[in-house]
Amino acid sequence: MEFIFIAATFALGLCWGSFLNVCIYRLPRGRSVVTPRSACPQCGKMIPLYHNIPVVSWLLLRGKCRECGQPITPRYMIVELLTGAVFMGCYLHFGSSLATVKCAVLGFLLLGLIFTDAETKLLPDAMTLPGLAIGIGFSLLVPVNDLVSRIMPGMVSAAMRGAISWRIWSLADALLGAAVGASFLYGAAAIYLRARGVEGMGFGDVKLMAMIGAFLGTRLTVLTIFAGSLAGSLFGVTSVLVVWMKRRRRIAARGRPEVDARRRAWHSARIMLRYYQMPFGVFLGAMGLLSFLFGNVLLHWYWRAL
Ligand SMILES: [Zn+2]
Repeated sequence: MEFIFIAATFALGLCWGSFLNVCIYRLPRGRSVVTPRSACPQCGKMIPLYHNIPVVSWLLLRGKCRECGQPITPRYMIVELLTGAVFMGCYLHFGSSLATVKCAVLGFLLLGLIFTDAETKLLPDAMTLPGLAIGIGFSLLVPVNDLVSRIMPGMVSAAMRGAISWRIWSLADALLGAAVGASFLYGAAAIYLRARGVEGMGFGDVKLMAMIGAFLGTRLTVLTIFAGSLAGSLFGVTSVLVVWMKRRRRIAARGRPEVDARRRAWHSARIMLRYYQMPFGVFLGAMGLLSFLFGNVLLHWYWRAL
């Protein structure tokens, strides 16, 4: 019986992943996700329903449009499989509860934003702002159980404690999380702009972190920002190193002296460091979802280790 539930959440995730692909393609272009029906982006031919089955269709058509033969990005299949895996992971983690629904909704929104940011370097308001509202709404259904919920009830009189529902504290936790997430990113963006004279992070990242904060509460939001920055920096340093090594090898292969190759490779790496725009939302989104699932365990373990 349990196996049927797990398989069903995975299948449900595949279907939502299919819809998410439509959002990833259309929302940054400012188009409706409801109408018209799906069409091939190359030739514009409508895709019939029987070719719209998650994963199966992409494999059967071997990643090509049936009409024009143009390749269809494997992103379609990857997003469907990931959404299925995330939905299944939420169920395995939280069981049959509203927390599973909250987790799946957060996973759906974050996967959409991660792939949109990776492809277009945009985090559309059409995803982040409804996401922020949904996160705040969920705090009334599933306790956020963060700083406010833990500290405030001890600071008011017993009579007031009885009168105030946990939902009020939970709502305050979501609002505080959103405010902390947004101000951290806003501050970082302002410092970055001052220091380097180019915009490194946009307002999209600020709204993304407000959304994550509403779902996670303050402590896990701070953890998300910390882990996301760490992952992003590691990725940035690795990319620069890869460019440097490739460039050096290519120049050295032309028979130039080693010193010259090294100097010019370093020059290329510096140009890349200056102009490359890292999709920071990808790292914040991934770490936000991981924090929601495993952050409390990590923090608990960390406090005990101290
Ligand atoms: Zn086509």
